[in-house]
Amino acid sequence: MKTIVAKVDLRQASSAEVIQTAAKILQEGGLVAFPTETVYGLGGNGLDSAACEKIYLAKGRPSDNPLILHISEIEELDRIVAEVSLQARALMDAFWPGPLTMIFKKKDIVPAKATGGLDTVAIRMPKHPVALRLIEGSGCLIAAPSANTSGKPSPTEASHVALDMDGRIPMILDGGPVGIGIESTIVDLSEETPMILRPGYITQEMLQEVLGEKVCMDPGIIASDSTRKPKAPGMKYKHYAPKADLVLVEGETDKVVARINELVREKQQLGQKVGVIATDETLLRYEADHVVSIGAREDEDAIARHLYKILREFDDWNVDAIYSESFATPRIGQAIMNRLLKAAGHQVIPV
Ligand code: AMP
Ligand code: MG
Repeated sequence: MKTIVAKVDLRQASSAEVIQTAAKILQEGGLVAFPTETVYGLGGNGLDSAACEKIYLAKGRPSDNPLILHISEIEELDRIVAEVSLQARALMDAFWPGPLTMIFKKKDIVPAKATGGLDTVAIRMPKHPVALRLIEGSGCLIAAPSANTSGKPSPTEASHVALDMDGRIPMILDGGPVGIGIESTIVDLSEETPMILRPGYITQEMLQEVLGEKVCMDPGIIASDSTRKPKAPGMKYKHYAPKADLVLVEGETDKVVARINELVREKQQLGQKVGVIATDETLLRYEADHVVSIGAREDEDAIARHLYKILREFDDWNVDAIYSESFATPRIGQAIMNRLLKAAGHQVIPV
């Protein structure tokens, strides 16, 4: 299959035609990768089992890892979910369109293929204008997981999608680099206490403030190892991983720098090529084969935005080992560390 990569910029009139082509592919049961504000999604008609099946095939995704359905108007919920609680309404008012996914009891119209056989369905209204225009234009509820090969870091640029999906899908919409860079927060309101199944840009505090009650964090996602199974089926899989072995070093900055330099030397003596993930502040203090800054330590948004791109870059450089500083920053640090720990297979060296 030939994959068309089409630039799309809604300020230009030519984009209408591009979106129309993409919408037609979706209506006919095909797949289109498109930008959202979190990461690039791999979309298909979410109410069409065969289209959902194609998504799993293209990604090599395990069939019990459900998809997120993307909508462009709140009214569309009535077609697909059994009940919308007051809590859910409050969160929609506050955060939709935006990087928050909510879990609802599904109606029969949503095929089991979209939900990995669960009787619940994950739904989000994205904020990216291209995503919204594509949903509207196609008239589809678009099922879309991240547009990467299963297990790899999520794509934050169209070129990342092309690397993973070239020849596997008919079309990629290139809307430039995404704004947020990590996947949506997933919250489950179906139990007594609202629970975060995946941390993201919308934090526990933000949810609590709107709901006026305690919001829990699924114990499986904050466990210091990978032995507990998180409730969001996707979170149990190894994820976001670069090819090289990644290890985090955690502690006070001077000690972290010293320890990473020591570890780099040890690997280099064994003839290995080594990479380091640093910050703007520490970039020049490391001696390794490839040292990259993820951003200024104070700039959490930049750290989130650059994380996956950097993990992918190390694949190109063919390093054997990567050491990274730790980024448990105040606001979205929980989401950043959740992804980084999974990428590292939970290998952490405290100093
Ligand atoms: P992705 O967009 O690739 O990050 O994948 C969607 C994520 O949503 C996965 O981690 C799924 O496990 C999660 N998800 C989708 N549907 C449900 C559901 N019904 N219940 C819990 N988690 C879900
Ligand atoms: Mg994903």
